[in-house]
Amino acid sequence: MHAVHQLHQFRKSLSTTTYKARGQRVIRCPLCQLAKQFCICAMGAKEGEVSSNAGFLLLMYDTEVLKPSNTGKLIADLVPDTYAFLWSRTTKNDELQAVLDDEKWQPFVVFPQEYAQENRPVETQHINCSTGKRPLFIMLDGSWREAKKMFRKSPYLDKFPLVSFDPKLFSGSQLPRSKSSESKLAESASLKGEVLPIIEQTPVGENSRYTVRKTELAHQFSTAEVAARVLAMSGEHDNAHLLDLWFDVFNYQYQKSVCQRNKGNPKALENYQKFINKKRD
Ligand SMILES: [Zn+2]
Repeated sequence: MHAVHQLHQFRKSLSTTTYKARGQRVIRCPLCQLAKQFCICAMGAKEGEVSSNAGFLLLMYDTEVLKPSNTGKLIADLVPDTYAFLWSRTTKNDELQAVLDDEKWQPFVVFPQEYAQENRPVETQHINCSTGKRPLFIMLDGSWREAKKMFRKSPYLDKFPLVSFDPKLFSGSQLPRSKSSESKLAESASLKGEVLPIIEQTPVGENSRYTVRKTELAHQFSTAEVAARVLAMSGEHDNAHLLDLWFDVFNYQYQKSVCQRNKGNPKALENYQKFINKKRD
């Protein structure tokens, strides 16, 4: 069980009523939250298969972790150092604070640049960390409205630089590859230390592929898609691509399980399997 699974259990234990998700009569896998017959857990990366120089800290808005459509858990499926906490404006969370204070991390808040206060440093190209530190990406996980609220009302995050990307510049994992030594370092830290050619591009354009939820803005990506962009900005292109493919798998299977017209990528499973098998060779 990873951090999001644990948080899911914890949040569920606080609820007096069952969270009413769409398709609530579906019998779900307790981990991936997909209908049992579409469960993707067996396909997931095995322990030790993915390594990353980056960490993620998911701040999840209230019932977000209970929503089967949440994609924050997909990050935790792949990136070993993923933390997950319930967001609170007022309650002090010592565990959360300990992660933020940990010397090994350089925290960044992942959020659109246009919301940055004046003078706040914003990384928009490549992530540069202070010497010896690893990037910790703080993701505000909720609806867009909730994410904006968390951003405004978390003064303890104000001292950290932002990471933003222009969705128009990026298409899938086809991100500009930096020649800098930092990104080489980060690349070598990705999957088993090998840099593999990208064999299948996922169909990401300017818009999110996230067809599970209606997004308020055309450029609003799901949490997992944003995390993939950020990994790529850190030079971890293989990990970024793997997360993109894993997201596609989830997106496709999720839609099967709620009987919507499936707008997911029908080649999602095939693409993902091809890529991960190649890594396993
Ligand atoms: Zn499952």
